[in-house]
Amino acid sequence: MTLIATDFQPLRSRILVNGIVQGVGFRPFVFNLAEECGLTGFVANSSNGVEIEIEGDGDSIAKFHRCLNTQAPPLAVLVKIEKADIPPQFESTFKIISSKRTHSAATLISPDVAVCPNCLSELFDPTDRRFQYPFINCTNCGPRYTIIEAIPYDRPFTSMRHFKMCPECQQEYDDPRNRRFHAQPNACPTCGPKIWLVNGDNKPVAGEALDLALELIESGNILAVRGLGGFHLVVDATNQDAVMRLRERKHREAKPLAVMFPSLEAITREVQINATESALLTSFIAPIVLCKKLLVATIADAVAPHHSRLGVMLPYTPLHHLLLSHFGKPLVMTSANLSEEPICITNPEALTRLNGIADYFLLHDRDIYLRNDDSVMIHLAGKNRMIRRSRGFVPRPIFLPASGPSVLAVGGELKNTVCLTRQNQAFLSPYIGDMENLETYHSFEQTISHLQRVLEVKPELIIHDLHPDYLATQWAMKQGIPTLAVQHHHAHLAAAMAENCLTEPVIGVILDGTGFGTDGNIWGGEILVGDASAFSRFGHLENMLLPGGNAAIRAPWRTAVAYLRQSFDTKLPQLDILRNWEIGPILEMVSSRTNSPYTSSMGRLFDAISALAGGPGEIRYEGEAAIALMQACTDLNVPPFTFGIRSQESVKILCVKPLIRDVAHAILDGADFTMISNRFHRTLVNWLVKILELARRSTGINQIVLSGGVFQNEILLEALIPRLQSKNFEVFAHELVPTNDGGLALGQALIGQKYLEKMRLKQKG
Ligand code: ZN
Ligand code: ZN
Ligand code: FE
Repeated sequence: MTLIATDFQPLRSRILVNGIVQGVGFRPFVFNLAEECGLTGFVANSSNGVEIEIEGDGDSIAKFHRCLNTQAPPLAVLVKIEKADIPPQFESTFKIISSKRTHSAATLISPDVAVCPNCLSELFDPTDRRFQYPFINCTNCGPRYTIIEAIPYDRPFTSMRHFKMCPECQQEYDDPRNRRFHAQPNACPTCGPKIWLVNGDNKPVAGEALDLALELIESGNILAVRGLGGFHLVVDATNQDAVMRLRERKHREAKPLAVMFPSLEAITREVQINATESALLTSFIAPIVLCKKLLVATIADAVAPHHSRLGVMLPYTPLHHLLLSHFGKPLVMTSANLSEEPICITNPEALTRLNGIADYFLLHDRDIYLRNDDSVMIHLAGKNRMIRRSRGFVPRPIFLPASGPSVLAVGGELKNTVCLTRQNQAFLSPYIGDMENLETYHSFEQTISHLQRVLEVKPELIIHDLHPDYLATQWAMKQGIPTLAVQHHHAHLAAAMAENCLTEPVIGVILDGTGFGTDGNIWGGEILVGDASAFSRFGHLENMLLPGGNAAIRAPWRTAVAYLRQSFDTKLPQLDILRNWEIGPILEMVSSRTNSPYTSSMGRLFDAISALAGGPGEIRYEGEAAIALMQACTDLNVPPFTFGIRSQESVKILCVKPLIRDVAHAILDGADFTMISNRFHRTLVNWLVKILELARRSTGINQIVLSGGVFQNEILLEALIPRLQSKNFEVFAHELVPTNDGGLALGQALIGQKYLEKMRLKQKG
């Protein structure tokens, strides 16, 4: 007996998928999977994510559910899958239906993705219709976040809306079996964006733009090249004069510049790379990775002078691939800005702001809606760690330990990023920069409104740093939304808790340069105990007078002299540093305590030791003196300096003065820069282990978080973690967000969420 069709009662299932499921080839994957399983129904993008209905027999539906999870495309991230049984509809096919706009927004947008291998082979295939087309992309690669103005992620809401697809492109776009099905930035030389080259007066230069660009770089010119998340300034990395000229014009005297190489093989000729680093470089994120230089170098000295590491990356857009493959040599690719200003993104902006810096401009007409610098990572203590989290990561959320109300955290002053939360997701913005000029401030405002628009959330609370003068603090005060001030190092502690999903109180070792303390002093060498709701100060570096406050940051010699004066009183040891600088006014400031705030900053202690021992007396970029001291370190198997810990009321003080005296005596006894560095790093590790053991004894807490910019110091991080683990501490450091102030907003956001929850409980109870 045969079963007739009418006896068969199909089942129907509705599936809602949240996560990064738009613009990553998820719908064609669903379409093909449904066809393979012999199911009917539909799939649609919505503001809720992706909505699927499938209909067929029970076995096929079960198979579909299994494969949905395990075979999803590489860029898709499935966060939540909801299923429900619904009545059958008896359709005959499976369809992809166009976007629905609904109200609750839970969709995640994909970050920008480096060009994929399939597109690359077409790019270099002379028979392909996109041969050498600088904007080739597909559902697995290309721009995303930077071209999105609003959600859902559909062409009319992106900067591609100005380009009408030609029939061939349209056909690819409409065909679910094509790898460009609904690839929103899909384009070709006939219908898509174009590049062109102009001089500093915006006059087009006759000829093929790419060929011209290559010739100009070869002859030593500085080019501004419009890329994915903004402009780069580009010069031949092997041309010392060109690199020097770039530095001069950009007012960037010494800070290292990143270099893009034609191939991984070319990178291995310049720096040491391990398997993890090479996987990172070749991943679809394609960040800058700070790798150890080899002794023999082909790139110009001026690229990263006096640095043991070089920031290297591989081409990540088709345009970069074209430039690098034809040029064949590494190119300096540095954010196109004047020092400390945000990276340029529009053509007119670049032509104005880079006037006098770039000789020529390689422009294109695919607009960038949001600036997105290259991300910077480093492999330390066995893990890849973030230095700057931007392109390739943003806007992927960091998942918080629990859901909470939406809050906006506006970060600190330097390396600013902001963070907006939605349920248990924290969206850390692209790198905004140092909030010390109008351009950065505008970029900060744009970033906030863009984030609110694409995430469709309105914050209930704005969290800012305790420092009243920070621009971000002042912005927060003007929004007409309740605000919360959070102490800088508490935010660092919470950031480390957030990314490690810790909820119980921890001991935080928070070491950085500057943060406004609850007592009005400048903090920065802090042992805190607490969680996202509250903290106490278990211990800190001894308070030292800092002559001229922030002015001392640029001049470590001042800090050094002031610390000597405070450690020796009037009878100063005869060190070189006292002869090399105009020390009178500094000594006077310290003894009269004028314009000299107290600081417990670890950054300043590094500065002082470095300057005392022969490091730079004045610095040209943040951390230069501390980096010099760190790079000099060769061996920790040396005797430590004196490291006293005393109690002052209920707080432990790490005594700085005896340490400074010890260092001074060692220098008088002939210890060189390396020896001072070795012994100082050793001291620091011992000091921290000792105070953390005291903290554990007094609190019973065994979990330690490490945060603050000083933990970019690889000697310290790599020595401290195993030492603490050998004492059975559980140690957590940053990986997903920067340990520097670029991660601050994440911690502020977590503290804000906790605060709102507490307030609500109070109101209820
Ligand atoms: Zn592709
Ligand atoms: Zn086309
Ligand atoms: Fe900090």
